[in-house]
Amino acid sequence: MTRLGYIGLGTMGHGMAANLLAAGNSLTVWNRTPEKAVDLVCDVATTPRALAEVSDVVFVCVSDTPDVEQVVFGEEGAIIGMEEGDVLVDHSTIAPAATRDFAARAAEVGVTWLDAPVSGGSEGAEKGTLAVMVGGPSDILRSVTPFMDAYSKTITHVGEEPGSGQMAKAVNQALVVLNQLAASEALLLAQGAGLDLDTTLAAVEGGAAGSWMLSNRGPQMIRRDWRPGFTIDLQQKDLRLVLEAADELGVPMPGVALVFQLYRALQTRGLGSEGNHALVKALEELAGIELGD
Ligand code: NAP
Repeated sequence: MTRLGYIGLGTMGHGMAANLLAAGNSLTVWNRTPEKAVDLVCDVATTPRALAEVSDVVFVCVSDTPDVEQVVFGEEGAIIGMEEGDVLVDHSTIAPAATRDFAARAAEVGVTWLDAPVSGGSEGAEKGTLAVMVGGPSDILRSVTPFMDAYSKTITHVGEEPGSGQMAKAVNQALVVLNQLAASEALLLAQGAGLDLDTTLAAVEGGAAGSWMLSNRGPQMIRRDWRPGFTIDLQQKDLRLVLEAADELGVPMPGVALVFQLYRALQTRGLGSEGNHALVKALEELAGIELGD
């Protein structure tokens, strides 16, 4: 039986690990804050290295590029415990350029790196309906697909080159925030016009104007429920990655740059731990009205 290890039991990693267990896999987990592992019935390692020593495939889902570097290549990092032929699947959203470097460093010890960022929110991790976009060798992806099926609705091989998955995720995040901006502006227009917000949402979401953001976060915005599936701080981290990649490629992204600045304004007001749908608060400030007024 292939031995699996999962590093990072945050909003996303915990749901994925739980689904790997529910599918009957042999799993060891590690999290910086060990309390997040208490409800998972499996072995808990003391370090990423110790986890890797008893795993053939190591999954990682932590916050940002330096965090991946720390849990994989840092002191007591996973790479020290990995052997030739092992596979590392990184589900974190991090920089494509750093991913290319990490994959090369892993290859030096015979470990294959698959960059496999996900989309679908906390709901997707919990229900096992994530969309995964993967960069790296397709034959290695085929070998780990049966495990990833436990938490995925779609697994798309984007390219053989390391970093291809992270680049596809940058495209995904541009779409996410522009849909978020659209939902925010449009619902505020409905508010300004005095329309019933739930009725208006029901009227438009099934047509050409529909989006995941509108259907899933629209009702939360109407109820002024700012609990995060995905925090503004993490969203802002992703937009930094998008804008850096776009800058390297010389592709202008004025819409994403605007949303980046609106989120920055909300972070300045201390709202970084709210859900990314709290973007509407920046527009409410401009409009002088609030949803639900
Ligand atoms: P989260 O709930 O904030 O969890 C972050 C995880 O990373 C925690 O397990 C945290 O450990 C760990 N971590 C962070 N820095 C670390 C470090 N230096 N060393 C060791 N562990 C560290 O975040 P999340 O929402 O699960 O997101 C994780 C990744 O998935 C991010 O790259 C995010 O962009 C991406 N993502 C998130 C969503 C979403 O809707 N939430 C959707 C798609 C993709 P502690 O528990 O000790 O803090």
